[in-house]
Amino acid sequence: MDLSIIVPCYNEADSIEEFYDLLKETFKNKKIDYELIFVDDGSDDETLKKLKEIKDKKIKIINFSRNFGKEAAMLAGMKHANGNYISIMDADLQHSPQTLLDMYNKLLDNKEFDMVAAYKENRDDELPLKSFLTSMFYRINNRISEVKLLPGASDFRVFKKSVNEAIISMPERRRFLKGMFSWVGFNTIYMPYKPSKRLHGNSKWSIYKLLKYSFDGIISFSTFPLRLSFFVGVIILFIGVFNFLLMGHLSHRTIILILSFIMFFLGTLSIYLKRVYCDSLNRPYYIIKEMIGFDTKKN
Ligand code: UDP
Ligand code: MG
Repeated sequence: MDLSIIVPCYNEADSIEEFYDLLKETFKNKKIDYELIFVDDGSDDETLKKLKEIKDKKIKIINFSRNFGKEAAMLAGMKHANGNYISIMDADLQHSPQTLLDMYNKLLDNKEFDMVAAYKENRDDELPLKSFLTSMFYRINNRISEVKLLPGASDFRVFKKSVNEAIISMPERRRFLKGMFSWVGFNTIYMPYKPSKRLHGNSKWSIYKLLKYSFDGIISFSTFPLRLSFFVGVIILFIGVFNFLLMGHLSHRTIILILSFIMFFLGTLSIYLKRVYCDSLNRPYYIIKEMIGFDTKKN
């Protein structure tokens, strides 16, 4: 198997057929032995029905018991991929199969590289608030996090089996694939691309979800907020001692400052504690209800 194409789908019934036709057309006569792994992430529309209707031996379906999120869907696809090269793309036609093919060929032509990642060059079509928050995220992340991210980098990429294995070996529950790709290293070629407009349905990302995801991403690879709390604590300690020596007691202002800091510190701590707690539960990342088209002996 040359290439595994993983496609996470959540309520994409309106896009599935068009997506499949376009992909099939793009890969026609290309002599690439590929498999198409659709992960139905607990859709409550007719996504699964549409997927089952396509009669093609290249298609494999993983059906989740409920919605577990795109990260879980991508992981499931990666765990069941058989290709020497693995790729991930969206089902909503925003990622073009032609770009995928270009990325794959680029990787074949540059054997010293392990991964080709597409990144959005300009974000003109985004809401100003969304693009402001996105650029803030990259700035903050790249300043304080262990992993540096190229602004606009996406999950739309093609990579070697070795990269796939490295990612699968990372046990964390809260997964932030973009950061993980950067963390595992390897040689990456970044390729600019322009995502098409979504043809059907809406993006599953609200501003709130995006903020939460970004925050989670930073926490995944940075302990800077914890260190920051420590340093702020030391400064406040000095202020307290200075205040006490000067006045013989703590002023209201200093007390309020100390209390605010304690709340801030507890908040920061609880965010990391939540991580430890969630990881310690050791729950599965997702639950598979049904697998279709896979070689039963292997899976
Ligand atoms: N998706 C998913 N599970 C979710 C949300 C989204 O599998 O809980 C899929 C979705 O069907 C699409 C891809 O992830 O194929 C990207 O989602 P979306 O288009 O909403 O994100 P955006 O393009 O706005 O980043
Ligand atoms: Mg999309």
